[in-house]
Amino acid sequence: EGIDYSIQPFESLYEVYEEIGSGQFAVVRRCIEKSSRAEYAAKYIRKRRVATSRRGVPLEAIAREVHVLQTLDKHQNIISLHQVFDNGQHVILVLELVRGGELFEHISERERLSEEEASSFMHQILQGVKHMHFNSIAHLDLKPENVLLLSKNRQHIKLIDFGLSRMLTHAEEVRDIMGTAEFVAPEIVNYEPLCLATDMWAIGVITYILLSGASPFLGDTQQETYNNITAVDYTFDTEDFSGTSDLAKDFISQLLLKDARKRLTVEQSLAHPWIAPQSEEQEEKLRDAQTNMDNFKSYQARRRWKHSLKVVTLCNRLSRSAKLRSQSAELLDSRSSAITLQEDQAWM
Ligand code: ATP
Repeated sequence: EGIDYSIQPFESLYEVYEEIGSGQFAVVRRCIEKSSRAEYAAKYIRKRRVATSRRGVPLEAIAREVHVLQTLDKHQNIISLHQVFDNGQHVILVLELVRGGELFEHISERERLSEEEASSFMHQILQGVKHMHFNSIAHLDLKPENVLLLSKNRQHIKLIDFGLSRMLTHAEEVRDIMGTAEFVAPEIVNYEPLCLATDMWAIGVITYILLSGASPFLGDTQQETYNNITAVDYTFDTEDFSGTSDLAKDFISQLLLKDARKRLTVEQSLAHPWIAPQSEEQEEKLRDAQTNMDNFKSYQARRRWKHSLKVVTLCNRLSRSAKLRSQSAELLDSRSSAITLQEDQAWM
């Protein structure tokens, strides 16, 4: 399965501007299509040159991401793909530009958030997931970093980063995918077959954090986190959840189930009274219930801090290895050297 690249060179069709984000294997830049003057986000994915290397992304994995994006095209809650280029070193995905930043960042700037509002954010995430699951695609990396707002003043959610996504219709089983520890389901930790319900677990974790500012399974080490996940060892701490409705707790408990078949499907989640209240009384409960904003703000601050610590640690390690190896040419491309280091730190 190959990729249909646009023939002309990317730079001849687009003006390229500042970096607006980066991930383990990708840099994202703002760009403008010369012909239409429309703005887009160009995601440069570094291609793996040597099969045994740990740097860059294997071409078949990039092709998978492209096919998933092409299959999912044109849903209001999913990032859309405009064009694809290959410049030799990178595959460049020209994506719809999202300007509002992370949903969690936006929320942490607010003074309060009712469950009614939290529920409507989750509703939009579920609409995107419904479109994926309808197409037999599992995202497999749902987490706050991948939930963005289209613009700051409109509350319109876009899901991004389909780098780990899989089409699950093929006969072969998919097991070997690892997202961020905090959000992975027991079947991932146990190396069991993945399924659409793997995403529903992550929806449960995201909702739990959104309402309480606490992370249900996060331990002091990655191993501890995995142990908590496989034991489904979480509680609704009475302090963290003091303002939370019973409906919300019911919603979460029906997603954080070890047996994937017992979890709510995306359709069932959309019909759950916390997402779609069945009566005036339920609606009123969601309006009155407040999320734990003090806790949430500190959760978000910790995430920001961990992110910058990760960057500093990486820089230190890189300069240390630079002295050791004094291979300056290799290090010019510090981003690709950073990949293997970041993997050790994924639990942060
Ligand atoms: P990761 O290592 O987290 O899996 P990745 O290398 O697959 O990431 P993305 O998550 O797709 O890359 O993108 C990296 C960052 O770039 C995102 O966290 C986001 O901040 C930004 N970004 C990605 N796509 C867009 C977009 N369409 N519009 C605006 N910003 C974007």
